[in-house]
Amino acid sequence: MKFSDIPGHDTAKSRLRAMADSGHLPHALLISSPEGAGEMMLARAFVQYLHCTDRTPDGDSCGRCPSCIQHHSFNHVDTHFVFPVLKKKSGGPTLSDDYMPEWRRMLTENQWMDSRAWPEMLGKPDGQPRIYVDDADELRRKLSFTARVSQHKVALIWLPEKLMEAAANKLLKLLEEPAEDVVFVLVSNNPGRILPTIYSRTQRLELRRLSDAAVASVLMDLYDVGQADAMAVAHNAEGNVSIAATAMRSAETNGRFLELFISLMRLAYGRKVAELKTWSEKVAELGRDSESRFLCYCERMVRENFILNLRQPGLNYLDSAEQAFSARFCPFINAKNVEKMIAELERARIDIEGNGNAKIVLFDMAIQIIMLLRL
Ligand SMILES: [Zn+2]
Repeated sequence: MKFSDIPGHDTAKSRLRAMADSGHLPHALLISSPEGAGEMMLARAFVQYLHCTDRTPDGDSCGRCPSCIQHHSFNHVDTHFVFPVLKKKSGGPTLSDDYMPEWRRMLTENQWMDSRAWPEMLGKPDGQPRIYVDDADELRRKLSFTARVSQHKVALIWLPEKLMEAAANKLLKLLEEPAEDVVFVLVSNNPGRILPTIYSRTQRLELRRLSDAAVASVLMDLYDVGQADAMAVAHNAEGNVSIAATAMRSAETNGRFLELFISLMRLAYGRKVAELKTWSEKVAELGRDSESRFLCYCERMVRENFILNLRQPGLNYLDSAEQAFSARFCPFINAKNVEKMIAELERARIDIEGNGNAKIVLFDMAIQIIMLLRL
């Protein structure tokens, strides 16, 4: 991770650069920030810059030296990660190190560090990850060795507000006995919840949320979206890129589902049996979960169109693209076919969830819809 990979935060970048360049490093640095502002990326860029043996003239890490390459694969020998994890049931020690595969995946696929995604990645979406005392003991052990390839050993701690009390007390001891070659970098989304004695021993760098324009430009890089739509999504996310990206993905899925729904209804209305077969094969490629969500989506669209047909726009929840199609389609969903059509979609969904052959189930359903549209 390089500074140039992260949007915004110019002042913070300059301060971090200056710290590393001058060699006057704080023993413990606390980067505090609202969630989804790129705070962990910034911490990672700082540590990579600190360790880089060939810093660029414009103040960034080179990305090519052995140290940068180790950082790139999260294997830098003098960088130790500590992060919240789930308590082991086996009774053995609970250590961040045991969750390294999940952690690397998080840092790769979820660079903006969506705190909602982390317990899910650990396999327990409703879990409450914490930093346990075993990690503090392990960190003490690791930091007692001399640095192997660089001048500084770094302990990079994500979410120190999640330290269990015993762990926080042991970490405090480590902070109280500063070793010259050790730098602690703490990245927090809730500094008010950090043990005050730890907090007071850190040098603070406070980040502000990203501007709507900065979030929008990240969205435009990641997704095929125009500026106006990106700005609208960014505005609702209040500077949190993770939340904006989630909203973007669900809008994208809805768009795809709407297209499939429209082609199903058009082909069924035109009695295009051969094309409906191709349609079923295409939908069957989505995978079981998406097929099931798609059929729920179809049920919702049928229900909404029936309501629209009854001319009760106040009861409608359609986005603008759905609205545009439904304005002309709704006369086809009436009191005679609405329930039968929903029952048909539901039957297909249950069959698919029960491991039925999706191609056959979807094709059968499509044929039924041909007839139901004529009622
Ligand atoms: Zn380098």
